[in-house]
Parts: sequence; C-alpha cells; structure tokens
Amino acid sequence: MPIKCLVSFENSRDSSALSRDLAALHSHEAALRRVVTIVAANASLAEVALRVSQEATDVLELPAVAVVRFDSELATTIGGSARKRALEPLVESGGRVTLAPTLAEELVRTEASSRRVMYSKTSEGIARGRYTLGLRATVAVPIMDGATTWGALVAHAGADDAAIEQEDLLAEFAGVVELGLANEQRLQTLEAMAATDSLTGLMNHGAFFARLDAEVERARRYGRAMTLAMIDLDNFKEVNDALGHHVGDEVLVSFATFLQSFSRSSDIVARVGGEEFAWLMPETGGREALRAVERARGICADESLGPIEGRTFSVGICDSVETNGNAEDLYRLSDTALYEAKRRGRNRIVLYRPSEVVGDDADNSKLARFDRDRRLQAIQSLARSLDSPRPGSWTHSERVGDLVAKLAGKLGWAPERVVALREAASVHDVGKVGVPTWLLEKREELEGVDLAALRAHAALGAAIVEDAMSEEQTGWVRHHHERWDGTGYPDGLAGSKIPDGALIIAVANRWDAVANARSHGRGEKPVEALGAFVSAAGTEFATEVVDALIELWNTDELGREDGPPLAERSWQAA
Ligand code: GH3
Ligand code: MG
Ligand code: MG
Repeated sequence: MPIKCLVSFENSRDSSALSRDLAALHSHEAALRRVVTIVAANASLAEVALRVSQEATDVLELPAVAVVRFDSELATTIGGSARKRALEPLVESGGRVTLAPTLAEELVRTEASSRRVMYSKTSEGIARGRYTLGLRATVAVPIMDGATTWGALVAHAGADDAAIEQEDLLAEFAGVVELGLANEQRLQTLEAMAATDSLTGLMNHGAFFARLDAEVERARRYGRAMTLAMIDLDNFKEVNDALGHHVGDEVLVSFATFLQSFSRSSDIVARVGGEEFAWLMPETGGREALRAVERARGICADESLGPIEGRTFSVGICDSVETNGNAEDLYRLSDTALYEAKRRGRNRIVLYRPSEVVGDDADNSKLARFDRDRRLQAIQSLARSLDSPRPGSWTHSERVGDLVAKLAGKLGWAPERVVALREAASVHDVGKVGVPTWLLEKREELEGVDLAALRAHAALGAAIVEDAMSEEQTGWVRHHHERWDGTGYPDGLAGSKIPDGALIIAVANRWDAVANARSHGRGEKPVEALGAFVSAAGTEFATEVVDALIELWNTDELGREDGPPLAERSWQAA
C-alpha cells in the first residue's frame, strides 16, 4: 500500500519544526513498513492486530489502541496495546467492547474503500469510569471486508492527545489490518481447498489423518471412547467397467452424501481413497458404532446411489480403547478389520476384537499379531488352494492340523504351543506352490532333478511362512520331512536335533496320507498301517510321537474303522 505523506510542507515552519516533522515521518514510515512486513510473512490476524496496535500506540503516542471485530451490538477485541497498565483491560484480546451507538452506526454504514476516521466524545456513551482513566474520546477507523464493515481500529484518547489529529496514519494502520484480514482469508481458503476432496467435498486423506491424530489424542486424554470405521465399496470396479467412469464418480458423490446423512455433527466423514471412506465417531464405543454403520449398510442396499441401486460396502471397525490412544494403530486395525470383511465375502462389518487374534507370546503387540494373522490367512488360503479339495471337504492340510493338535495334546504340550503347531501344520505344504503340478501328480517314484524339485517344497514353504509365523513355527515347516535317523530333508537333521513340532507333523502327515488312500479304497487297513508306524519308530519317526498316535488309536480318536484297542507296549515290541 502507498504510504502517504503525513506532513504538509506548505506552511512556513522554522527549520527545527521541519526536522521534527521529517523525523516523525521517518518513524511513521518505519512503523508501517514493520507491520506490512508482518502481514507479508502470513502472520495470523491476531498477531497483525497486536503489532499494529503496538506501533500505533507508540508512534501516535496514544493511550490505548485495539483492533475490534463487530458482531451484533458488541465488538470483540482481536488484539490491542495500552501504554499504561491501568488501560490494559480495555484492550485485552477476546474482550467484549461496547462502542458509542452513534459511532457504531456510523462505522457500520461505511461504504467500501472509504477509510474515514470517526470520533466519539466520551460523553456520548462511553462509560463514565473512563474519565478517571484520562480518556475523553474514542477514535475509530473502519476495517472493511469488501463492502461490509468487518470491524474497526479503535484508539482511546485523552482530550488533549494531539496525535489523534494524525488521521491519515491511523487510516494507514487500519489499511494494514485489512491487508492482514484479506491475507488470512486467502490462506484459509487455500487451506480448505487443500483439505477437501474435490469430487465429493468431503475432507480428504491428508486432512483426515492430520485430524485423526488430534482426535485420538483428545479421546485418550479425557478417557473418552472413539471409534473409527473404514468403509470400502464392494466391487466398485464393476460399476466403472459397466457404466463408465463418470457414472462411477456420480455414485461416489452420492455415497458421500449418503454417509454424511448418517453421521452426527461431531463425526468426521472423509474420502481417504478412491472408493474408500473413513467415518470417525467421537464419544462412541465400538458396539454403538457397529449399530450405526449397520443401519447405514441396511439402507444403502435398498437405496439408489445416483443412477444405480443396491450397492453394498464392507466395513472394518476399531474402538480406540484397543489402541491406547495411538492413531496409527487405530487406522491400521480398522483397515485390517476391513480386509477381513472383504475376505469373509464382502457386504459385511467386522469389529476388531483382540480375542479373535491367535496368540503368540513372543510378540506381545496386538497390532503385530493382527497384521501377522492377516498374512497368515493369505498363506492358509494359498495352502488350501494347493490341496484342491472337493468343495466343502476337509483338506489334507486341515486334517493334518487337526491331528497334530491331538498328538501334541497327548504329548502334554502347553495349549498355546498346540495352537501354534496346528497353525504351522495347516500350511506345512505351502512350498508346493513352487513345484510344477505335473511333478506333484506324477505317479512313478521320483528321482534326480524331479526328486530335488519336490523336496525343495520344505525349504520354500519355510521361506513363505517366515514373515507370518514365529521362528519356531517356521522351523517346524522347514523340517517336517526330516527323519529320526538323519536321512530326511532338507537338512538331514537327526534325533532330538529335529524340532519337536516337525516330528509330530511328519507322523500326522503320513497318517493322513494313509487314511486318505484308505478312504479312496486304496492302501492297507488302518490297523495294519499302524503297524508300519511302529516299525518306523526310531528310524523314520520319533518313538514318543508314534506312542502318542497309538494312544489316540486306543482312545478312538483316529477315526478308527476296525481293529481292537492295542496296548502301547505290545506295539513297541512288535
Ligand atoms: P473390492 O470389493 O475388493 O473393494 O473391489 P473393488 O473393485 O471395489 O476394489 P478395487 O480396489 O479392486 O478397485 C477399486 C476401484 O475403484 C478401481 C477404480 O476403478 C475405482 N475408483 C477408484 N477411484 C475412483 C474414482 O475417483 N472414480 C471412479 N469412477 N472410480 C474410482
Ligand atoms: Mg478399495
Ligand atoms: Mg472396493
């Protein structure tokens, strides 16, 4: 803004008066430059108001100056400065100010771009108490926001304050506040644009996650509940593929409106991905949130979203109580629950519950366990697909998992280790993903390269499960083809060097192959097969695992078709 010349040189003055005027001019210019610089540095309006008031009180030698914003009859002080402590309450920021009615009226009537200075003698309505503060008049310059009066720069003056005559400078200061106001509004608009998703008008990914941190922290600090729901439209690609991307966009916009219509004013709904939305519910526990989302889901399935009908979505929900006030965990656990909802077939809601997570004592972070569970599920479905069972039937891997749990139970394993062993057994053959199908189906005895390729499945399986399982479980997968006498693979370990779980899987694996061949009408009778295990005890298998197998047989837990209960001792002698 142009800095006006504040002093007139037309009058004849003596040289000392001239040099006083020049010095004053320089100090006024310097003061204006300082406040303009603050605006240029994007200071907040409160900061600009404070600095302008300080400079104005200083250079104009006024008792107190403040920037006030009008709202209804009163004004609120945005920032102010006083030369005497006794005057400070007059200009405290946040303070409510009553202006003389005539002055207020005149200010509100101001036309755009007129920066007229207005006076109000104290007697016109300013509280009488001010006389004791030496204040006799209020001087105000309107601060305009376009064509409307936003507020005013208000100077409180004594009757003999010559400085109030320097209207031009006061107007310049008001102009700087106007600049600061425009600048703040521009920054707010930019900020809002940066925080908004342009398609749906919802909060966008970046803004949501910035806000999530603050909200989670607040909930933690005040011990309040809070729940996050992550929502993903089901099979949305189909919509685009069938009807085109622009229709897909319309559906997204309708869905955003739909979600907002279900949310409360304190909730935050954001678009955090292409067809992914977040719904944050402060003061809401997981169960209550589940009900709210369930209502929305039920209605969405019947309603139209823009031009199409009956779209479904999947939801993962997590209560912040589960994450001890950690925002990142809250997001990841909700997202993991969402993944689980998709995995279970879509169009459903999954509430994260730590009890659903299989324990692994070596790793006590709930989150790590849940993540790990998610990877494990992927590996398990891969293992199942390799088993290629008839639909609905148990797969080899699942049956082996069941049997190892029984054997380990007989061997007195702790329940947590039994769970871990069952888990490892259920994926023990996943390395076969690296073995060509024709090789797996080959009926003849394998040798040479073919044999090596088949045998590679043990080590490969261990490498696949490594990230999702404990070191011990990985070892069980790797060594499930070792033999007690050291002639197995992949490492030729012998006796007690072979991990105990691997010894159990080896027995269960073979038993299931025998039982399965039998159920297809091939192979020996189970009771004869059991005899073969007894002979292999101490060479191929660990004796104590074979003993456990016999015990299961005797207690009728092996799906026995025929044969009498057999004494363990007699089998050992056989
Ligand atoms: P799922 O049930 O597994 O979530 O299936 P999906 O097809 O919804 O999921 P996927 O993540 O495979 O694909 C998401 C699709 O969403 C891909 C893309 O075509 C579509 N999409 C993402 N962002 C936009 C967008 O801004 N506009 C439109 N029209 N489509 C989008
Ligand atoms: Mg998606
Ligand atoms: Mg989707």
